[in-house]
Amino acid sequence: MIINGYTRTCGVMGNPVEHTMSPAIHNTLAEELGENLVYVPLRVPKGHVGEAVKGAFALNLLGVNVTVPYKSEVIPFLKEIDPLAETIGAVNTLVRVEGGFRGYNTDMPGLYRAMCEDGVSIEGEKVLILGAGGVARAVAILVAEKGADRIVILNRTLEKAQKIAEEVNGLAGKQLASALELRAYLSLPGDGYLAIQATDVGMFPKTGEAVIEDALFYEKIHTGYDLIFNPAETRFMSLVKENGGRAFGGLKMLLYQGIIAYELWTGAEVGPVLAKKAYAEMKKAMNIL
Ligand code: NAP
Repeated sequence: MIINGYTRTCGVMGNPVEHTMSPAIHNTLAEELGENLVYVPLRVPKGHVGEAVKGAFALNLLGVNVTVPYKSEVIPFLKEIDPLAETIGAVNTLVRVEGGFRGYNTDMPGLYRAMCEDGVSIEGEKVLILGAGGVARAVAILVAEKGADRIVILNRTLEKAQKIAEEVNGLAGKQLASALELRAYLSLPGDGYLAIQATDVGMFPKTGEAVIEDALFYEKIHTGYDLIFNPAETRFMSLVKENGGRAFGGLKMLLYQGIIAYELWTGAEVGPVLAKKAYAEMKKAMNIL
């Protein structure tokens, strides 16, 4: 890579950012596409998000990703916001516009693109969402929008699941989603669910854990999609497979949220060959063979 006076800069702002895999994705894309662009980590201390956004614009940064803990905190400092990001209430990508940045959410389109590539459809499905945090809420909105037949949100804290179900029903204009307390999983009606695992249980370093261990629960699931990407194969995924289901992890979602951000910044279209190359580089950076 040659860095010169024409090099454009992108980066990821968050805290911490030392473990980010995004440079592996974006710098591979730039190199392969022959773009004079570099992507760097941008650690922003607590309380400085507004200054960081202003500074990024003043320094002529082409685009910025936003990660934990600033995905919601960044919103008041944007010039514009994409309607999907506004509905979800979380922004992970800033794109330069006249006078500031426009905020997007590429996490959910990224998950959708990953699911499509994995051959997992949402339309007409009974979808079970495990968890009721920020990502689970966004997933509930995504699956409602993509034509899920029914949505059940299963969470340790019932009130949080109920709040999301109400929001989704309001958006959908019908009774599409319902809430269930995590420990009541056996009262889940019927079987044949697509389950999206959106808790952080099983994430590195506690890789031996799954939010539910009971085989009777996994018998209700035909496909399990775990949003955790480290480890690449979670205990939840193993349990789904042991009970006859298909299972996928969060690595491709991570890849495609990055690819969609890159496409927004540069106007490039990242095809399957290049996506595969970026995926391989990202896995290499994570020591996954
Ligand atoms: P969050 O807002 O902190 O929510 C965490 C959720 O996990 C809550 O529903 C919480 O339940 C539940 N939970 C935590 N510990 C639990 C336990 N011991 N037993 C049962 N439930 C437990 O987190 P988030 O921001 O939504 O992120 C969720 C996951 O998404 C993370 O694992 C993250 O790695 C993943 N993610 C993946 C990508 C990707 O690109 N693949 C991108 C973003 C996020 P309570 O409500 O009861 O506390």
